[in-house]
Amino acid sequence: MANHHRRSQLLFEKALHLMPGGVSSPVRAFRAVGGTPFVVSAAAGAHLTDVDANTYLDFVGSWGPLLLGHGPTPAQMAIQEALYRGNTYGCLCEQEIYFAELISSLMPSIEQVRFVNSGTEATMSAIRLARAATHRDRLIKFDGCYHGHADSLLVKAGSGLATLGLASSAGVPEAVAQHTLSLPYNDLHAVHQAFQRFPDQIAAIIVEPIAGNMGCVPPAPGFLQGLRDACDQHQALLIFDEVMTGFRVALGGAQALYQIQPDLTTLAKIIGGGLPMGAYGGRRDLMQRVAPAGPVYQAGTLAGNPLAVAAGLATLQHLQANADTIYPTLEQRSARLEQALLHAAQRHGQPLTVNRVGAMLTPFFGPNPVTDLHSATLNGTDQDYADFFTRMLHRGFFFAPSRFECAFISTAHTEGHIQETANALDQVFAERAALT
Ligand code: PMP
Repeated sequence: MANHHRRSQLLFEKALHLMPGGVSSPVRAFRAVGGTPFVVSAAAGAHLTDVDANTYLDFVGSWGPLLLGHGPTPAQMAIQEALYRGNTYGCLCEQEIYFAELISSLMPSIEQVRFVNSGTEATMSAIRLARAATHRDRLIKFDGCYHGHADSLLVKAGSGLATLGLASSAGVPEAVAQHTLSLPYNDLHAVHQAFQRFPDQIAAIIVEPIAGNMGCVPPAPGFLQGLRDACDQHQALLIFDEVMTGFRVALGGAQALYQIQPDLTTLAKIIGGGLPMGAYGGRRDLMQRVAPAGPVYQAGTLAGNPLAVAAGLATLQHLQANADTIYPTLEQRSARLEQALLHAAQRHGQPLTVNRVGAMLTPFFGPNPVTDLHSATLNGTDQDYADFFTRMLHRGFFFAPSRFECAFISTAHTEGHIQETANALDQVFAERAALT
């Protein structure tokens, strides 16, 4: 159970002087939930420990990579072994080729793959490739989906359907943002309208096949197939951003779960086993356009570095070898957490909706179905989520410090951990009920 945070507070004050917002990535600053972020000193299994020696049962899992928990993991062992052979070569290495081969065999839509260092690089490069292959500039994305921080993808909807996108960050040129159309998730009608309004101009649709960045929002039945059909009809490319879902919701990712074949796929998180790693891949004829095979330039000093490759390869090999036990266990633990949330809310008369696909789930503090960004935003308030987050954190349970995120379950979460969480949830919902 968390008690005092003196050292975290002192360190965070220092960090605020030295780093914007005190962090290396915005959501880590806890601005959406208030309070001071704890500063981590170590992690093991399903737990984080902070510099004041508090421990937390971790449902953030470094935002998705840690399907096998913090360790010891096959990735850590592989990194230690690889380290003795050098951290980076700047040359092709043998394991990189086996890694490409394994990814292709687990995700058959990926005939060729290029390794990069992050999800952002993967999506940015996939989009460049899609534009080059179709000789078109416009993109469709969906409100509430996050695809990293490249200019073309930091775009939100304008007013009305199929209008031009607006930059969602300062510093993104309007001239870039206006090539991106941002549409409501799960809305095929809006997709058809966009293709009608901009005939022969749309290069690609990029989509999180299960959205995780507005909270967990599954695709409505027929949505992904509808995107596939629309792309085929209009000679546009379908890009599945599986940075979050790849190897999490099934060994073959969301594309295996829903049986839809995208033209290009972007990956990161789990494929790096906790080290910086990303990849994009897909149809051979498309990937053959990437330099040096073709004219689409994209490169990286540390791309495919031997440590990240060793970590990723060991992780995927482990998942492949143990898929029959790992995915059913994740499903069962995650379903138990979903039940615990719903049960606690119901017992104490609090509205709650839980969206879940496999080992990713989000509680929304309202009574209505959540199918897109609009319904996610309306279902509960920042205040509700901040209150839940803070009460759980004080009991030693770390959920995402923002309501539009997922809880990630790993193989390190045991039945016992889920039961402890269920007990804490019951107390927290009782406290919340007493306030209303
Ligand atoms: N795509 C998706 C679906 C993501 O969830 C994220 C990160 N949360 C990214 C892309 C960007 O990945 P990275 O943070 O590795 O750049």
